Amino acid sequence: MNKKANLFSRLPKVDDIISFIEQEMNLLDEVPREVVVESIREEIDNLRIKIANGSLDTDGLNSKVEDLPILVSKRARKKVSYRLKRVINASGVVIHTNLGRSLIDNEVMENISEVVSNYSNLEFDLDTGKRGSRYSHLIDIITRVTGAEDALVVNNNAAAVMLVLSSLAKDKEVIVSRGELVEIGGSFRVPDVMEQSGAKLVDVGTTNKTHLWDYERALSEDTSAFLKVHTSNYRILGFTSEVKLDELVELGKKHSIPVVEDLGSGVLIDLSKYGLEYEPTVQDSMKAGVDIITFSGDKLLGGPQAGVIIGKKKLIDIMKKHPLNRAFRIDKFTIAALEATLRFYLDEDEAIRKIPTLRMITMPLEELERRGNELLNLLKGKLDDSFSVGLEDQYSQVGGGSMPLEQIPTKTITISSQEGKITKLENSLREYDIPVIARIYKDKMYLDLRTIKEEEFKTLVGAFEYAAERV
Ligand SMILES: *Cc1c(COP(=O)(O)O)cnc(C)c1O
Repeated sequence: MNKKANLFSRLPKVDDIISFIEQEMNLLDEVPREVVVESIREEIDNLRIKIANGSLDTDGLNSKVEDLPILVSKRARKKVSYRLKRVINASGVVIHTNLGRSLIDNEVMENISEVVSNYSNLEFDLDTGKRGSRYSHLIDIITRVTGAEDALVVNNNAAAVMLVLSSLAKDKEVIVSRGELVEIGGSFRVPDVMEQSGAKLVDVGTTNKTHLWDYERALSEDTSAFLKVHTSNYRILGFTSEVKLDELVELGKKHSIPVVEDLGSGVLIDLSKYGLEYEPTVQDSMKAGVDIITFSGDKLLGGPQAGVIIGKKKLIDIMKKHPLNRAFRIDKFTIAALEATLRFYLDEDEAIRKIPTLRMITMPLEELERRGNELLNLLKGKLDDSFSVGLEDQYSQVGGGSMPLEQIPTKTITISSQEGKITKLENSLREYDIPVIARIYKDKMYLDLRTIKEEEFKTLVGAFEYAAERV
């Protein structure tokens, strides 16, 4: 028998491992038998491949076989664990699209739970006892908070823009400034959305300058709207000019052309009061007289994923009847979450206090420092001496394509070490039961206190204990 054949013959049988697991471990109480068997097969296959490519000798194989039950257990548990799960966002990017954008407050969760775990008046009018509209629940609160005449909510802001353009501008022309042909992450590009909606893009002006007469000169029989797109994720600086909203509104009125604005983030509070850069608010656009405004539910508004459309009733009525509205329809989870989130805005202080996104971006430096010292204390001694751990002044970002220039002063736990160790630490933290997502820059790790909840400190300590054994 040659050496490889000898090694192959030493591979354990599936039955032997399953009976070992049956006798010595409680894995089968938690994981269905066929998943365990599948995991055993996969682990044995891995060994078979290693033998075939010559990377295992007899000693190596023996030790791998000894580890098999543990490896099988890990693999099997992973197969039955949730794929979408909570993580700790230590990156300092508050509206992190990859990590779920805005967080939903517990009070809002209670309302969602109350509504969806019971029957509700989703499409039932309690006054008349007849069929109602699912959108009616949101109209009151949205119009109250924004000052708009009417409102409609769809799945996300990309869908909102699409619905608006399809309803108002199909086979007609829409005039947009060349400085506003935005691409948002996740392949939302203004020219492409416009094409899909059936509207014809008429771009005017130049990248850095667009004047009112650019819009005026492009007007034709076929013009159906002026579109303003908030350049939420970039700025054009230097020799620039764009047309002010109220000037465009005036031009629109003169020619009976509606002005549509894609505001992107949809901030409802003037955040410059809290030391942040000024970001145009929804109310500002309403006051300027814009006919239709769209914005996201889960960016600076701090609610669930949604696309809010507000403005003139006459125009929104057209959208309500459009077939795309049915395709972009929101569910009861979203309605319950959005209604509860928007109610906080009836009192600005309450909105800042209770909406996680707003609470995080306005959290004072002293508070971050206090939390930083507390966490630093808890992490003391968790890593060996090759790591240096300290509290540092850094900057957080708003994220979600909002306020791209805003650098909010923050405090981070900063960790440095010998070459390669930070990468290992980052990998192990990410592998933990509740994964920790840290920011890595130039071989240093930063844990930003702004996006870590105080209740998560204990979990973080657990993650560091786990990682310490693996670096
Ligand atoms: C974010 C953004 C969108 C897309 O909004 P979603 O809610 O992610 O679909 C569209 N336009 C602008 C200007 C944005 O900033």
